Amino acid sequence: MATTRDYYEILGLSKDASPEDIKKTYRKLALKYHPDRNKDAGAEEKFKEISEAYAVLSDDEKRAQYDRFGHAGINGQYSAEDIFRGADFGGFGDIFEMFFGGGGRRGPMGPRRGSDLQYDLYITFEEAAFGVRKDIDVPRTERCSKCSGTGAKPGTSPKRCPTCGGTGQIRTTRSGLGMQFVSTSACNTCHGRGQIIEFPCPVCSGTGRVRNTRKITVNVPAGTDSGMSLRLSGEGDSGEPGAPSGDLYVVLHVMEHNYFKRVDYDVITELPISFAQAALGTDVMVDTLHGKVKMNIPAGTQTHSVFRLKDKGIQHLHGSRKGDQLVRVVIETPRKLTSEQKELLRQFEALSSGKSPDRNEKGRNEKSTEKTRRSKGFFEKVKDAFEG
Ligand SMILES: [Zn+2]
Ligand SMILES: [Zn+2]
Repeated sequence: MATTRDYYEILGLSKDASPEDIKKTYRKLALKYHPDRNKDAGAEEKFKEISEAYAVLSDDEKRAQYDRFGHAGINGQYSAEDIFRGADFGGFGDIFEMFFGGGGRRGPMGPRRGSDLQYDLYITFEEAAFGVRKDIDVPRTERCSKCSGTGAKPGTSPKRCPTCGGTGQIRTTRSGLGMQFVSTSACNTCHGRGQIIEFPCPVCSGTGRVRNTRKITVNVPAGTDSGMSLRLSGEGDSGEPGAPSGDLYVVLHVMEHNYFKRVDYDVITELPISFAQAALGTDVMVDTLHGKVKMNIPAGTQTHSVFRLKDKGIQHLHGSRKGDQLVRVVIETPRKLTSEQKELLRQFEALSSGKSPDRNEKGRNEKSTEKTRRSKGFFEKVKDAFEG
């Protein structure tokens, strides 16, 4: 669910905060509220809120949109489907090192949440454009089914820890300087769990968890691009008994296409055409993501002209709008010519420069009607010679 609070307010920054300020503040807050480190009620919500704020404010384009239009400008796209660009977080390496590198950190006390996992998923250009369902095999830690995650041998059950009485915490009181100091620490006997296992489960050796490779179906929505991530909540490593599982981040890598290139939601292609086609104009069939499309090349088209095929691009990640296909025309100079083609080109050059094709200059200023008739026939011949 998207937050409706002001992003600057969430990070405690003013509207003119620099990108460095935003990054620094985000790191500080993220470390403070990350669910691995902060077990307070509401910490996870807070963490999601600051991550959402950061995802928007760290992206120049999104930030500008947000500054102008507020939340409406962002369209809730940073939370609804839990999609965001990994790059916005300064790279996953960064955040994974910060939070998840050690395989999930133990809070000051209590059972440990499962680690978040990252999976690199390679998809084709078309799969990114149209969306795809993929089954992936994720090696992860899961709850032991033999003991249902308790860690106790079936038929037995964990016992309340006699040292801490089941609270998982030890309070130590010291007196000094006329004052009493109370400190709390995790119980050493049960490691903060409040329970001890007398007869460990033979399958998981009392940990309550086992390694397993799990098939998980990932729905990649249409319009995704390299660097985007899908967060599958709770599909990471399972936590210690009583603690939640981590999340699975599927990082998308879109493979290059031989013919299509992509810029945002537009598809860019190059179309080689002949000199004659460009000069005379023609209809050509162009491959698009949505099938072949007839496109008109007007007479006199210059090389590197760009034609726009409306709505033949990639569907936007949010909403049904589509990008366009931009076709860049490249006029190819023929490398090999037949003698007939050569002759026609000589005639063409001569006509263009106003000179007679034959070497002697006699026929130079003959009747102009004759010249017109000849040049008409000439273009037809060129067309035949180069298109056949
Ligand atoms: Zn077990
Ligand atoms: Zn204990």
